[in-house]
Amino acid sequence: SQLPLIPVATPPVWLGVMGGGQLGRMFVHAAQALGYKVAVLEPEKNCPAAHAADHHIVADYNDQAALAELGQLCVAVTTEFENVAAQSLAFLAERTIVAPAAHGVSIAQDRIAEKNFFTDCSPASKVLPAPHRLIASKADIDAHSDAISAELLPGILKTVRLGYDGKGQVRVRTLDELRTAVAAFGDTDVACVLEKMLPLAYEISVLVARGVDGATVVYPIAENVHRDGILFTTTVPGPNVCADSARKAQDAARVIVDRLDYVGVLCIEFFVLQDGSLVVNEMAPRPHNSGHYTIDACVTSQFTQQARAMARLPLGDTRQHSATVMLNILGDIWFVGDGKQLREPAWDQLLALPGACLHLYGKAHARRGRKMGHISFVAPTLAQAQQQLAVACGILG
Ligand code: ADP
Ligand code: MG
Repeated sequence: SQLPLIPVATPPVWLGVMGGGQLGRMFVHAAQALGYKVAVLEPEKNCPAAHAADHHIVADYNDQAALAELGQLCVAVTTEFENVAAQSLAFLAERTIVAPAAHGVSIAQDRIAEKNFFTDCSPASKVLPAPHRLIASKADIDAHSDAISAELLPGILKTVRLGYDGKGQVRVRTLDELRTAVAAFGDTDVACVLEKMLPLAYEISVLVARGVDGATVVYPIAENVHRDGILFTTTVPGPNVCADSARKAQDAARVIVDRLDYVGVLCIEFFVLQDGSLVVNEMAPRPHNSGHYTIDACVTSQFTQQARAMARLPLGDTRQHSATVMLNILGDIWFVGDGKQLREPAWDQLLALPGACLHLYGKAHARRGRKMGHISFVAPTLAQAQQQLAVACGILG
């Protein structure tokens, strides 16, 4: 691993984070609770993490003077989103500890590199990605139309880079629809991957953390429901999750995180198909929306775990102490009436519900599809948590 002789970084030294969104904000809160000072590098002045950070460097993610300042100030730096240029992380790594390292982040930035990596791991991980093919241009479709029709349609076309929350992807049933979709993404300008549409039974994610010494901890399996491509709820323990697929996914996650020689928190998404088989979908080199449940339902949250890994502290206990359901709060619920008026949701009513843990991200403006916050319900039993969630959905409308 990188720089194995550097000692533990104990509070009150500085930790740094690239990116100022809600993941950065929750990281700031967790690291500050441990007694660290936290600096955020983010170009947007009025961002969620800046409101909480001890220091905000307002600059682009590839601004060398800003990166040098962050590297100088902080004993370790992490990233809250995977699209920080690998060069920026490499530049930082010449000055301070960077966790996760550029290598793992750059694989996660590229769906083809990610699928190739998962395939390379598969003899040990025992799990493969969905059948897929790189579509770099319309010519690729014509050259392989028979194989595409036979093996990959109906399918989902995804941009190789920069897709998230279902953005940058479109479902296609025929070669003609595929051609139209490739043209809409900009033909030869935007590389895409075509994936076979799989018959999903349910979706799960595994949060895993690895320390610089190679110690690895895995969180309980999260079961995720998406709506319009965006995470809607995470339930733990997942009502559909069987012990067999849970163990297989956790074993695969350990292989993957080791193979990357990764340091920090990594989230891996899997599909469980209707025949019970497991498929690996994608990974995020950071804490993840489906891991927010750990804040209120586990001994060590994913954000505290990230700070521990960066600082080379022993990793924290991943034990879940409460059953939980997490609901994402999107900007859509601010819009009422004809959709032109905005009103703040009834937070006081939500907070009156037993087991309610509300997290708002301090975003100035609500927009449709924008993640404004989340609420977790914790309870002794999953049925109780789900009952409170149902009441909350009624309040939020
Ligand atoms: P994103 O980066 O937007 O999260 P994903 O690859 O995770 O992209 O796709 C978003 C969602 O679309 C998945 O959570 C799943 O519900 C659905 N999906 C993606 N790929 C497939 C597939 N090959 N077969 C069936 N459903 C899929
Ligand atoms: Mg996803």
